[in-house]
Amino acid sequence: MYTCGPTVYQFAHIGNFRAYTTADLLVRVLQYNGYEVKFVMNITDVGHLVSDADTGEDKLEKSAKKEGKNVWEVAEFYTDAFLKDYDALNLTKPTVLCKATDHIKEQVDLIKRLEEKGFTYKTSDGIYFDTSKFPTYGQLSSLDQIKEGARVEINDEKKNPRDFALWKFSYQDGKSRGEILKQVQDDSLEKRQMEWKSPWGVGFPGWHIECSAMSMKYLGESFDIHTGGVDHKEIHHPNEIAQSEAATGKKFVNYWIHTAFMQVNGQKMSKSLNNTYTLYDLEKEGYDMLALRYLYLQTHYRQEMNFTFESLDAAQNAYKKLVIDISRFEDPSVSSGQVRPGIFEDFEKRFFDALNEDLNTSKALAVLWEVVKSSYPSGPKLRTIFKMDRVLGLNLQELSHQIRNAQQILPGHVQQMVEERQHLRKLRKFNAADQIRAKIEKLGYELEDTKKGPKVTKK
Ligand SMILES: [Zn+2]
Repeated sequence: MYTCGPTVYQFAHIGNFRAYTTADLLVRVLQYNGYEVKFVMNITDVGHLVSDADTGEDKLEKSAKKEGKNVWEVAEFYTDAFLKDYDALNLTKPTVLCKATDHIKEQVDLIKRLEEKGFTYKTSDGIYFDTSKFPTYGQLSSLDQIKEGARVEINDEKKNPRDFALWKFSYQDGKSRGEILKQVQDDSLEKRQMEWKSPWGVGFPGWHIECSAMSMKYLGESFDIHTGGVDHKEIHHPNEIAQSEAATGKKFVNYWIHTAFMQVNGQKMSKSLNNTYTLYDLEKEGYDMLALRYLYLQTHYRQEMNFTFESLDAAQNAYKKLVIDISRFEDPSVSSGQVRPGIFEDFEKRFFDALNEDLNTSKALAVLWEVVKSSYPSGPKLRTIFKMDRVLGLNLQELSHQIRNAQQILPGHVQQMVEERQHLRKLRKFNAADQIRAKIEKLGYELEDTKKGPKVTKK
C-alpha cells in the first residue's frame, strides 16, 4: 500500500491529516483481517511548483526565502513537524518512509525508460510526458475538469494541455547558469538551491514522477492499494498511472482510496479565510489530538467533513467520557491473576463487519459504545473494547489504566479529607479548609488547586 505523503514546506493541516487517518485505519483493518501490510509513504522534499501544472514558483524555495533558511533546513523542519503530529494522532508508522531527494536516480531512470519508449518530448523548460500517446489517460478523473487555462496554465510549448513535466530545467534549454549569464548578462537569475544533473540538463524532477519511482521500487510494478486526498484524483494520480503504466505495460494499482475534502464552518479551507488549522493550533487551545482522531472517525472517509469547534468540543467530551467509563471497569482476571479469555463475539462481529464494509467507522464507534454501556461482566467487556481499539487507535487501554492508577494512589481516608476540604471552601470556611490541607500534607501528599479542582499527588 502506498500513500502520497506531505510536501514539507509548511505545516500539514487537519484536512491533510484526515487523509492520513484513513490510510492508518485501512492498514489496521487489513491487519485485523490477517493481511500483512507493507505500507510505503513518501515525503516530498523536492520543491515542486505551486500549481499542479508545473508552473509558478517553487514551494520549498519560496518558503526558504520567506523564513531565511536554506531549502534543506526548511524540508527537515517541516518533516520533523509532520512526524510529530503524525505520532500525536497515533497513526501507524509506514514500513518504508521515503524521501524524494534520496531517490533522484530512480526518478531519472524512470524518465529514461519513458523516453526510450517514446512517451516524452522536450521543451525549452523541461521534459514532458505526452498524454496523447497514452490512450487511457485520466480514467480516474473527470477529464473535462482539466481544461487549459483553468487549473492548468497555458504553456505554448506543450503539445496537449494535460501533458506534465517529468524533469524541469533549472534554466532554459538545460543550459548551465554560467552559459546563460554569459548570454544575457542578467544578475537577476537566482540559483536554485536544489538541483541535480541529468541526461537532459541540470534541473529537478517534476512532482508526479517521485511517487511512481518510489512506489514501484518498494512495492513492485503492480501493487494493491494507493491512497491520498481526493485533491489528487484529477491530476496527480492520473499522471502517476500514465507514467507508470506507460513504462511497465502493467496495471499500476488495483485499488484507489481517496479521502474527501474537509470544510471549516461550511467553507472551503483557504489562506484568505485564515481557517486552515494545524494540529498545533488545536493543541494550544487545549484540545487532545486523540479527540481529533475520534472526530475523524465519526465521518465516513468518502463523505465531505465539516469541521467546527463545536463538533471538536463534542468529540472531546465523548472521548473523555469513553476513557473515564472504561477506567471504572475492573477485569477480575487481571486482579486475580487468572487468565480468563473471552470476548463478546457478537459485538466483535458487528464491529468488524462495519469496518470491512468500506471502513464504516461511525458504525464501528456506535458498536463500541454499545459494549461500554452494556450490563455484561466487565472482564470480557474490557477485553472486547481493547481488541476493538487496536483498530480505532484511541489508546483506551493505556489511558484508562492511567486514570485507574492515579485514583488508586489516593487512599480512601485521604480522598475523604480532600472532599471535606472542598466542601468547607465552598462554604467559605477557609481556615478550617486550610487545617485539613495541612493534615493532608502531613500525611505525605501535595495538594494543588487547579481549574479542574484539587490535584493531589504523593510527595
Ligand atoms: Zn503521490
